[in-house]
Amino acid sequence: MSEFDYDLFVIGAGSGGVRASRMAATSGAKVAVAEGRFLGGTCVNIGCVPKKLFVYGAHYSEDFEDARGYGWTVEGAKFDWPTLRDNKTKEIERLNGIYENILKNAGVELIHGYARVVDANTVEVAGQTYTAERILVVPGAKPFVPDFPGKEHVIVSDHAFYLETFPKKIVVVGGGYIAVEFAGIFHGLGAETVQSYRGDLFLRGFDKDVRETLRDEMLGKGIDLRFNSNVKKIDKEADGSLTITWADDTTESCDAVLYATGRVPNTGNLGLEEVGVEMGKRGAIKVNDNFQSSVPSIYALGDVIDRLQLTPVALSEGMALVNHLYGDKEPVAMDYEHIATAVFSQPNIGTVGLTEEQAREKYGNVVIFKSRFRHMKHTLSGRQEKTFMKLVVDGETDKVLGCHMVGADAGEILQGLGVALKAGATKKIFDSTIGIHPTAAEEFVTMRTPA
Ligand code: NDP
Repeated sequence: MSEFDYDLFVIGAGSGGVRASRMAATSGAKVAVAEGRFLGGTCVNIGCVPKKLFVYGAHYSEDFEDARGYGWTVEGAKFDWPTLRDNKTKEIERLNGIYENILKNAGVELIHGYARVVDANTVEVAGQTYTAERILVVPGAKPFVPDFPGKEHVIVSDHAFYLETFPKKIVVVGGGYIAVEFAGIFHGLGAETVQSYRGDLFLRGFDKDVRETLRDEMLGKGIDLRFNSNVKKIDKEADGSLTITWADDTTESCDAVLYATGRVPNTGNLGLEEVGVEMGKRGAIKVNDNFQSSVPSIYALGDVIDRLQLTPVALSEGMALVNHLYGDKEPVAMDYEHIATAVFSQPNIGTVGLTEEQAREKYGNVVIFKSRFRHMKHTLSGRQEKTFMKLVVDGETDKVLGCHMVGADAGEILQGLGVALKAGATKKIFDSTIGIHPTAAEEFVTMRTPA
């Protein structure tokens, strides 16, 4: 008989928390998970899932235009925000139910409420204490908005999914994943959209060709992209509109300002520092390779450890931890290399491996292959959008170091290339792979001449 109520007490039922609790319970551990907000966490409720639904919704404006070249007449197409917003919410509620069933069926006890760590083996939720041999802290991350006058008037991505009224004009501040994705969503759904980024070119850390291609395509669609642009203050007017004062003291009116300036670990009010859990940069919980914090019975993974804020990474970390703690197989360390990722901007970005800039820092002889072309679909639609693909190759070993794409379905296409890179594919293997014709993806195996 264990001296504790549970073998594992999980704080947070987001992607990583649900996966870890379910797998631990399936392996025979007695598990409880505490959640104060919604099941499925950011990804299911106010992140990946509703965002992707909005991206689909936003794309219809172009699809209606493109249909004309194919003989379709689409007259009187109108967009109704409450329909999209509320249909999305219904789908999210359906997923919440699925998550609840997943936990129940695995035998995990679900405790509703915000948890606080009391000591190395004790957690408190709504005045009740629970003991556990191990505590796993997976509370995710939350939006960060810098301090400036009028900060209280801005919205963050959490709010964008539930807006009462759709803005006629919106200013999106930031130059990361969320900012470019929401700029595309608002523009596609019909808002006059400005995106303001503090540096020369957004999406720092992505391949430069990719960033420039997306910039050109977004400008081509009519998104008002502004670089080296900074907000000084924001005032709310009597009619509810907002007035932005920019750094150069010019002013501009809009209906909403969305800040997408990063997400920080959600460690407030958890009692972690009081029990001696060491925190790193931006309040992230410091953990070793086995996700163990400085307090040996307390573990953490996902956005709260701030390695890579991506759902599949949290899922994978959860699996690695459960295998380490409760598995019968040899534990496998989490591998952060060759993680393919997509930005659901319009057009999409898909990327895996090194950028050209990273490769040149690491390798002496880097060979680049690039292709820019008009997607076959647009020969009849008349759209000028270009698809861009790039391979970064080590000239010494012929290994493909990075694959990058901007264009329709880039995320779908890059997933398979992630497998190829993980398997150590060389350019020769890419060249000897027969293409699927006619597709855009075949271009990745037919680039013959170095750029
Ligand atoms: P990111 O970290 O990707 O980008 C933050 C942006 O805000 C950067 O452009 C940054 O500029 C800018 N910024 C930071 N601080 C300030 C400031 N004080 N003033 C003005 N600008 C500022 O964060 P996001 O919020 O876009 O997304 C968070 C994370 O969520 C992502 O990193 C990603 O891991 C994940 N995510 C993944 C998605 C996907 O897989 N498709 C979708 C959405 C989110 P600078 O570059 O100059 O520092």
